[in-house]
This record gives sequence, C-alpha cells and structure tokens, in this order.
Amino acid sequence: MDTRDNGGLKQPADDRSKLLLIYVLAGLVAAVVLLSMTYILLTGIRIAARRTPQIEAAAEINLEATHAHLRFEELISGDKTEDISEVWRLIDIADSYARTLLEGGETEVGKVLPLRDAHVRQSVEEIQSQLAQFRRITQQRYETPAESGIGSEMEQEYDKVYTQVLLKASAMKTIFQKKIRADLTRFRIAQTVLIALAVGLFITVAFVFDFFIRRHLRDERRLHAFNQQLQASEQQLRAANQQLQAGEQQLRAANQQLTASEQQLRAYNQQLQASKQQLRASNQQLAAREKEYRLLFNEMISGLAVHEIICDDKGNPCDYRFLDINPAFEKLTGLKKKDVAGNTIRQIMPTIEAFWIDTYGKVALTGEATHFEHYNRTLAKHFDVIAYMPKPGQFAVIFNDITERKRAEAEMQRLNKSLSVKNKELQGIVYIASHDLRSPLVNIQGFSGELNGHCRDLRRLLDTRDISDELRKEMISLVSRDIPEALEFISAGTEKMKALLAGLLHVSRAGSVDIDVKELDMKELLESVIAATQFQIDDMKAKVTLEDLPPCLGDADQINQVFSNLVSNALKYSSQDREAAVRIWGEVSDDSAVYCVEDNGLGIHDDHKEKIFEIFHRLDPKNSPDGEGLGLTIVSRILDRHDGRVWVESEPDKGSRFFISLPKV
Ligand code: ADP
Repeated sequence: MDTRDNGGLKQPADDRSKLLLIYVLAGLVAAVVLLSMTYILLTGIRIAARRTPQIEAAAEINLEATHAHLRFEELISGDKTEDISEVWRLIDIADSYARTLLEGGETEVGKVLPLRDAHVRQSVEEIQSQLAQFRRITQQRYETPAESGIGSEMEQEYDKVYTQVLLKASAMKTIFQKKIRADLTRFRIAQTVLIALAVGLFITVAFVFDFFIRRHLRDERRLHAFNQQLQASEQQLRAANQQLQAGEQQLRAANQQLTASEQQLRAYNQQLQASKQQLRASNQQLAAREKEYRLLFNEMISGLAVHEIICDDKGNPCDYRFLDINPAFEKLTGLKKKDVAGNTIRQIMPTIEAFWIDTYGKVALTGEATHFEHYNRTLAKHFDVIAYMPKPGQFAVIFNDITERKRAEAEMQRLNKSLSVKNKELQGIVYIASHDLRSPLVNIQGFSGELNGHCRDLRRLLDTRDISDELRKEMISLVSRDIPEALEFISAGTEKMKALLAGLLHVSRAGSVDIDVKELDMKELLESVIAATQFQIDDMKAKVTLEDLPPCLGDADQINQVFSNLVSNALKYSSQDREAAVRIWGEVSDDSAVYCVEDNGLGIHDDHKEKIFEIFHRLDPKNSPDGEGLGLTIVSRILDRHDGRVWVESEPDKGSRFFISLPKV
C-alpha cells in the first residue's frame, strides 16, 4: 500500500521513528533523573562519609588532648594511679588522628580520606606541631615538677600550648563542620537544581509526549478514517477492477465479435464483389434478355399486352390502362397499338364486364397468376389466357388463339363418343356372336353326329343289300372314308369355333364386366393365386418365390385373373432343361405400383413381344402346351380398364419377365 501522500497525515514509518525517538528521549530523561538522584544520594553519602570522620577525628584530637591534659594534671597533683605513659598514649592517639587527617586511613571513627585543601592541611600540621609542643612541655613539667608548679612559667607555657591545641582542634572541627555545611549547601542546591531540571525535563517530555500522543491519536484517527476511506476506495477499486475485468471481457468479446464481424464483412465484401460481378453479368444478360424479350415480344405468335391497374379511392380495381401490346396482339384482336397504348379499357370498351377488371386487378395486386380459357363472341374465337404480374400494380396477358384446338377437341370428343357407342355395339355383336352362334354350332355338331350315325347305318345296309360291286365299293368308300373324313373336319372346325367363341365371350366379358376398384393387398392376392396352382407347382417341382409386394388399386377378381394367367404361363412355358423357378416381386415407381412375374422358361423372341398380347396369338401352336392364345389378351384388356399397363422383357431360352403396372395406393 502506498502511504507517501495521505492528505497531510504523517507517514506511519516517520511516526513510528518519532515515537521511538520520544520513547528513547523519555527513557534517557528517566535515566538522567535516576542517575542524578543516585548521584545526589551518593554525593550526600560521600559527603557524610568524608566529612564525618574528619569532624570526628578533629573532635578526637580535642578529646584525646583534653584526656591527656586531665591525666597529666592528676599525675602531677599526686594521684599516683595514673601513669605518664597513658598521657603519652593519649597524645599519640591525638597525633595519629592528625596524621590520619593528612594521610588518610582507618580509624575507630571510620575511614578518613586525606585532606586535599592546603589551608586545612596547614591547620592540621599546625595541630601536629602544637601536639609536639604539648608533649615536649608536658615532658618538661613531668621531669621538672619543681619548676613546673602552679603559676610557674612552665605551667603557663604548658597551659598556653594546651589551649592552642584545643583551639586548633576546635577550629579544625569548625572548619570541617563548615566544610560539611558548605558541601551540604552545594549538595542541596545541586539537588534542587537537579530535581527542578528533572521535573522540568519530565514535564517537557510529558508535554512532548502528550503532544505526540495527541498528534499520534489524531493521526491515528485520521489514519483510521483514511484507512476506511482507503478500504472503501479499495472496494471501489476492486469493484472498478471487476468492472474493468468485466469490461475487458466484454471488450474482448466485442473484439472477437468485431473480428468475426470483420471477417463477415470481408466475406460480405467478397460476396458483394461477386454479387457486383454477377450483377454486371446479370445486367448484361438482362440487356440481352431485354433484346430477346423485345424480339420475342415482337415475334411471338401469342398475343401479349402489358397493363397497369387503376384503383378507386378504396383501393379496389376499377379500370386498367394499356401500356404496351405486341404485333401478335394486334393481329389476334384487330386492335392497333397506336389506338390502345395509354388508353384505359373503359375508354376502349365502355361496356366491359366488371369481372375482367376484378380478375386482372387481383393478379396485379396480389401477384397470383391466373390461367383460363375464354371465348370471345365479338371475335368468335377461343383464347387460352395467362395473366401474371410483371411488376406490382401491373399485369401482363398472354393469350393464344385456340379456336382450332377447341374445334379438334370437340371433334375428338364426338369421335370418342361414337367410338364408345361403336365399341358397345361391337361388344354386343361379339357377345351375341359368341353366345348366339353357339346354338347353331351345337346344331351342326349334333347333326354331324347324326349324319355319322346315318353313315354307319348306310354301311350296314350296304352289307346286307344286293348292289353291284362297283357301286358298293364306291358307296362304301363314301360312307366309310370320305363322309366320316368330312364329318371329322366339320367336327374339328366346330370344336375350334366353339373354343373361339368361348374365348371371345371370355374376352368380351373381361372388357365389359363391372369392376369394383379398391385397395388390394397384393401379397395376400398372390398367395391365393399360388395356392390355386399349388398342385401344378408340386407336380412340376417348380420353385415359386413371393417377395414383398406394395398394395395397389384394382378389382380383386380381375387382378386375380391377371396374375393367375401370368403365373400359369410362367409354369406352362418352362424349359425342359432346368427346374422351373418363378419369382414374383414388386416396387413403387412414381405414381404406380409395378409388379413382375419372372421365370427361367423358354423366353420370347423380340419379334413376338408385341404379338403375344393379340387375341388368339400363339407362338408355336403345335409344339407348345394347350392354350387358346387368350390369356395375355385378357390381361391386357383388364389392365386397360384399370389404367394400367403390361409389357414383357425376355430372352429366348433364358426366361421372361412380365411387368404389370397399376395405380398405387
Ligand atoms: P396361351 O397361353 O393360351 O397360348 P397366352 O395369350 O397366354 O395364350 O399366350 C400367348 C403366347 O405367348 C403363348 O402361346 C406363348 O407362346 C407365349 N407366352 C406366354 N407366356 C409366356 C411365357 N411365360 N414364356 C414364354 N412364352 C410365353
């Protein structure tokens, strides 16, 4: 955290060092005060220790001298209990005290320090000299008692010296006492000064301390406030940072989007360039088309007119204006461009029906093209009309004269009608022929049989009657060879005719019977067909495979007939060289269900692929199995009626595939 500039606050590091300084100072002051006290105390003690033994020593000199005087007085007054040596000892003691005062040393009153003051030392030396005189005078008085009596010169001398000693000792004591007093006075002054200094120092330090503490506290409070501000700022900073990060992410995302957009833009640009080129090419094409269109417009055989629709206040079409017409339009309608262009239909044809304006208005306003046929009574022509919207609010009409086509259609309808009438008539004829011709045929057959019987009778009679041999021979030849032979031909012919008539009837029925078309389950239908021919299949040991078949629409009976004929043919026209195999499959193709009956039989030559569907057509009537050449005709007829188709693909001696197509479900 940066604390260099914090709005006038001391820097914490500075404060700390200052506080430390204050504490050190306070400590120093306390140490100084303590040391001073100690010093004062020690000084006091020292003074006392130094001066007291000196005073004592001075007092001792006085005392010992006094004792020596008293002992000596007692001695010379005749009290023999005293010994002179005692006097000498006492003087010696006094002298030793004086010497101790000069030299220092241990005494009974304590340790005495040697005196430094020269004046005082001189006083002490004087005391020593006085003590020496006192000893000498005392010696003289002791040795010459006679001369030392009361009132003697010696005694006076003695008293003088003695007094000098006492005075000197007392003066010494006084000096020492003065000294001690002076020492004490100095000591007290020093003590007072020191205490005052200490107190002052203490107060100063306390003030400084207080000042700094206050300042420190104020700073601390400010620091605290600042800290809070700082925390708030930090939070703001953090929030701002987060916002910044979010912003950065957004920026990054925006950047990516920008890059993507740029790429897209580049791609669009490229597309734009490509589109531009395409546009240029299209423009060129358009110009070419315009040219072509103009050419087409002018050269086309269809009439073409471009109009703009006119609407009333409510927006409903109420008129339309011719903008352009082509030459074919002029030719087909007889109207000229100069007369119609720019005019409205109501100006050209005031009686026009509203129907036309509504119809074309719808095209121009909705863009829904319309196609219709129209008969124009005025022109007595049929037109095929297409109206479309080339531009919003406009419509173009393309029309063709279909009068000829209409006429042809009407003719075709008429012919179809007469064809169907004729067809019905033919069917009736076929039916009648096949049905009604049966009874005369039966008659012919019957009478042929009867004639045969008559021939037999005639032969028998010829055997019994007498007739010439030649006649008999001739008649026998007639009745036993020629007539039976003719009768056989008649019988075979009638049989054939009968079969043909039956076939005709069959075919006629297939084409005329009512059909009931519905959804057929072809698998089921084919299963029943196979079941019906199962005996033949088993007999031939043929292999019949039925695959999945799609359903279709048809009449169940007739479609059953179709597949019965095809399956029966597939088995019938199998090859002797291999085991018969029939596969039936189917599929849906476009809007039809296509089925196939596939065999590995004799196959059909290309030349006969169409003919086999003709009535009574057989490829090899003599060598092929029984048949009438009707099965495929019936198949074809049934499929015609079902809007279906039959065709064959085949290879001789390999097999055939008969395809059937029927409407799918
Ligand atoms: P039919 O079988 O009674 O002769 P169809 O009309 O069914 O009459 O057949 C016509 C002819 O087509 C047959 O005589 C036969 O020669 C030929 N044909 C029909 N189906 C097949 C087949 N699956 N394989 C080979 N030839 C066939």
